[in-house]
Formats: sequence, structure tokens, C-alpha cells
Amino acid sequence: METKSIKKILIANRGEIAIRIIKTCKELGIAAVAVYSDVDHYSPHTRYADESYNIGAAPAKLSYLNAEKIIEIALQTKTDAIHPGYGFLSENADFAQLVEENGLIFIGPKAQSIKLMGDKTAARDLAIKAGIPIVPGTTKPVKSVAEAQQIADELGFPVLLKAAGGGGGKGMRIISSPNEMENGLQTAKSEALSAFKDNRVYIEKYITNPRHIEVQILADQYGNVIHLGERECSIQRRHQKIIEESPSTYLDGSIREQLTQAAISLVKMSGYTNAGTLEFIFDQNKKFYFLEMNTRLQVEHPVTEMRVGFDLVAEQIRIAEGKKLSFTQEDINFIGNSIECRIYAEDPSNNFFPSTGKIAELKVPSGFGIRDDRGVETGSIVTAYYDPLISKLISWGRTREEARKRLSAALSDYILYGIINNIDFCHSIINHPQFVKGEYDTGFIHKYFEDIYKNDIPENIIQSAIIGSIATYLSQQKKIRINTAGDSHSRWKNKQVD
Ligand code: ADP
Repeated sequence: METKSIKKILIANRGEIAIRIIKTCKELGIAAVAVYSDVDHYSPHTRYADESYNIGAAPAKLSYLNAEKIIEIALQTKTDAIHPGYGFLSENADFAQLVEENGLIFIGPKAQSIKLMGDKTAARDLAIKAGIPIVPGTTKPVKSVAEAQQIADELGFPVLLKAAGGGGGKGMRIISSPNEMENGLQTAKSEALSAFKDNRVYIEKYITNPRHIEVQILADQYGNVIHLGERECSIQRRHQKIIEESPSTYLDGSIREQLTQAAISLVKMSGYTNAGTLEFIFDQNKKFYFLEMNTRLQVEHPVTEMRVGFDLVAEQIRIAEGKKLSFTQEDINFIGNSIECRIYAEDPSNNFFPSTGKIAELKVPSGFGIRDDRGVETGSIVTAYYDPLISKLISWGRTREEARKRLSAALSDYILYGIINNIDFCHSIINHPQFVKGEYDTGFIHKYFEDIYKNDIPENIIQSAIIGSIATYLSQQKKIRINTAGDSHSRWKNKQVD
């Protein structure tokens, strides 16, 4: 197989993940090209890269999702490869294809793998062929309400309507009884169409309070597939992860072996290459079901890196160059425990409503066993245009308790003033007796922090509020001074600065 050395990479992303990827480029002596939207002109990732280019206006559609513009910059700058990070174009098969057609390397799987695994119903079909259990339900989109009713009757309520092209915790609807089906299906289809331009919806049995456990894999172009253990991601709000850890407290040796082997066989069967994650849910009897595959680097990949000591981005680049994996399964030693908290600009006391504003002061904890991957600094403006994830705080310890206490202390030291954030909430979670014991499932936040859900706000209202806050942001933009050096030393916390 032909190998090609990559000397320059364009990172088609922003925020913490752009910086994370540029860091590896620097270590490997690879030049890094950043792209940015108008509102990201002063963002840290633009200064951290060797070169940076404006690719358009703030809305992602006009910048970070503008495939043609990104490829144009890559060609102009004589870039060898494009790393898509996560989100944006990372799971867009057409983009991967376009990158290759322009003679560039896409750092990720081949376009056909993205297409295959990105379609949840096709991926379910493949899992059946590989002999891996899937959540009971359909592998084809439902055609009518009558068909949906019949399937739900067979599965037993509650069931989950899911968008075939969905992602990011969106496009799911729980149906608890037959009379909710007609309306539910209609709404699910129209939501799926507007969010994913694909109105196909299928049905799964709704597993009550499962545990979400996923397996990281790496596959080269020579058929070598290895796993790097599991990550438990059951601490979620609105089906989206907040805290992840590795290893999972739920698995013992033999289930872990079955799970990781299931992941490897599915990857081998699909001919997938590069880094990927297979997501599973476990029911309360420790029976696992394949959920879906994410054909990219995951947000939570650092907890794996902390335990295995390999840089996943460096391996992704190596594989994309056409090189063999630099290690075998036997070379991987899992050492200690790692936990990650996602620091979000959002208000946990108001149903995780996204918050915006200027970061008046940021002081990040450090020290042995602590890593913080972030995309902001003092003076950064958090807008409503993009995902509210601003940083990831990760700890490592020889034992879970050591990692947990280290993370707890680091969260207490974390200073982030000026925008409402979830740091105190993360601190409460990891010190909750159930978390301390490692006994939790995806219902954890709902069960133990139920006050948060008192004013459950529907997703569409949140979306309109985001649009509203963009309008406010734009009208205030002239008043906001972008100051990367930081000009405020306000000591107050959890208040919004305008
Ligand atoms: P997405 O691609 O949007 O992230 P996933 O299929 O990965 O969607 O599911 C996200 C989360 O939704 C899971 O981690 C789990 O908490 C919940 N979930 C998904 N499918 C089911 C199911 N059949 N039963 C119960 N919970 C589910």
C-alpha cells in the first residue's frame, strides 16, 4: 500500500478540538492551518495555528460547514490533509469524498464507511450480520402510523422513535402509550427533516435507565483492528454526555472481553479504517446492545488517552498516511482511571439553557494527573452560534477514587467568571454518593437533580431562544470590546457580563 507523509494539515473546526489537533501537529512537526468564522477572528485556535484564514460569516452553514470554501483554502495553502475534528463536517460523507477528489487526504474513514455507519438503520443491519445484539426494533424506517403501532405493540411500550440520520442526542422521542403514536411520529418525522434533511424514522424498544458504554477502536488500512478499552458515558442530560470515565465501573473481565470483541468484529466486517467509536447500551441485567458507530474522534477521547498513553490524533494521522498501526493489542496497557467533565456555557439550574457572554476571568487548574483541553481564554466571547462546550477537564489517578478526588479538587480551583457555566454542577455530580460508588445510569441527573427539570423546556423553545440571543448578541456586538489580554478581574461567579 502507498504511504504518503503528511506535512501540512488544515483543521476544519474551531474551539477546543481545533487546538487539541494543532497541538499534535506541532509535536509531529506538521504545519497547521486554522480556519475561522467572523466571530472567531480572535479565538485562540486562530493564533495557535501556523496560518489562519477567514472562511465566512458566523452561522456554521456559512463557514465551518462550507465544504467548498474549506477545500479552496486547503488547496491554496498547499495542505496535504484535512482533519475534521468532531461535529461540523466530520461525519459528512460527501465532504470526505470531496476532500479525496481534490487530491487531499481526509483524516478519518473512507466516505463509504461514513455513509454506511452514519445511517443508523444500515448500521443496525450490519450489526445483525456480525452477530452483535442490537436494541430490539426495526432495521427499516417505518412507513405508516399503523405499522408503527403494530411494531410498538410487539415490542411493548415504552418505545423510542429515532431519526435514521440523527445524532448529538437529537431526533429521539419516547412514546409511552398507543395514543401518543400518531402525533409522536408526525413530530419526529418533521423534526428529523428539519434537523437532518432526512425524515426517515425507525423504532427501538426504550430501555429503561440503561448505561451508555462505548468502545474506542483504531483500524489501519492493512486489516489491523485494535480496541483501546471502553468509556462509560451514562451521565447525560437530554441524551447528551456531560461526564465520562474509563474504565466503566459496570463491567467485569468477561463482559468487557465480549463487548470489545463485538466492537472489533463489527469494525472488521465493515472494512472501516481510522479511529472510531462503537456505542452500546447495557440494560439492568448487564445485557448489551449496539446503538451506533461514530466515525470520528469523540469529544471524550482524552479519558482513553490518559489510560493507554497513546495520542489518538497522532494515530489518526499515521493511519491516514497509509502506515500500519504502531502497536498491537498486546502492546496496550491500561493504567489507572480517568474521568472527564465537559465544561459547558449553560445554566444547569435553568434546564441547561445555553449561556453567552464574555469570559471575564479564566484560571484553569493544573498539576499532576490534570489535563484541561479548552478553546477559550480570558476575554473570549462565547456566542450562541456554536456548541456551548468550552473546555474539558480531565483527571487521571492510579485508582478511580484518586482520579475522582483529583478532579473534584481541580473543579473547586477552576475559575471561570463572566458566563453561566456548569462547573459547580459537575462538582456536585462527581461528589454524589451514587457517583462515588460508581452506581449510576442515564437516568442519574433526572433522578438526583430533578429540580433542574421542574421547568422542562422543549427543544424548539430552546432553539428559538438561541436565535433570540444571537439577535441580541448582534445588536450588542458594537458594544463588546474583544480583549484577548483580559481587562476584567471581577470576582463574581455565575453571572452574565454583557
Ligand atoms: P445520538 O446519535 O443522537 O447520540 P444515540 O443512539 O447514540 O443517539 O443515543 C444517545 C443516548 O440516548 C444514549 O446514550 C442513551 O442515553 C439514549 N438512548 C438511545 N437509544 C436508547 C434506547 N433504545 N433506550 C434507552 N435510551 C436510549
